Amino acid sequence: MISYIGIGSNQADPAQQATMAIEALKRLPNTQLTKCASLYASTPMGPQDQPDYVNTVVELDTQLSALALLDELQKIEFNQGRVRKATRWGPRTLDLDIILYGNQKINNTRLTIPHYGMKVREFVLYPLFEIAENLVLPDGTVLSQLTAQCDRNGLIIISE
Ligand code: ATP
Ligand code: CA
Ligand code: CA
Repeated sequence: MISYIGIGSNQADPAQQATMAIEALKRLPNTQLTKCASLYASTPMGPQDQPDYVNTVVELDTQLSALALLDELQKIEFNQGRVRKATRWGPRTLDLDIILYGNQKINNTRLTIPHYGMKVREFVLYPLFEIAENLVLPDGTVLSQLTAQCDRNGLIIISE
């Protein structure tokens, strides 16, 4: 199954956190990391009194189920010091979201796939477009059109 993972960090050397997360994703069982977008800097969502984020998106080719993949992602977040806090969208060392899992639509207590915010988040759309320019979402939406309609909101590439 081809799956796209959104990576975000704004604490404790965010670029290093993203790079470490990519290395950890390469070590996942029954999984290959097949593509990796550039690192981007983005303006925070929600509370503005927090540092800018570093974001990227990677492509995995995995035999893990979506739930097993989520378990693995949460282990990596935990290993990199993620602390679950009450404030939504507050600062964090690492956030790993499953953006897409093949062409599947999944809705259960732990997972909503496609990720509910992906269509409007510049820090997901632009890196995803970089590595999957011809992608079509499960509902038929064309990624290139979503990206073209989405304001960059200050998003810049910080390293290729
Ligand atoms: P947002 O979901 O708006 O990006 P967030 O990433 O900060 O916010 P978290 O606190 O990291 O939210 O995650 C809360 C819960 O979201 C997780 O415990 C997980 O069960 C659930 N979740 C639902 N869909 C997904 C998905 N596609 N990828 C990752 N987690 C998801
Ligand atoms: Ca998120
Ligand atoms: Ca998350």
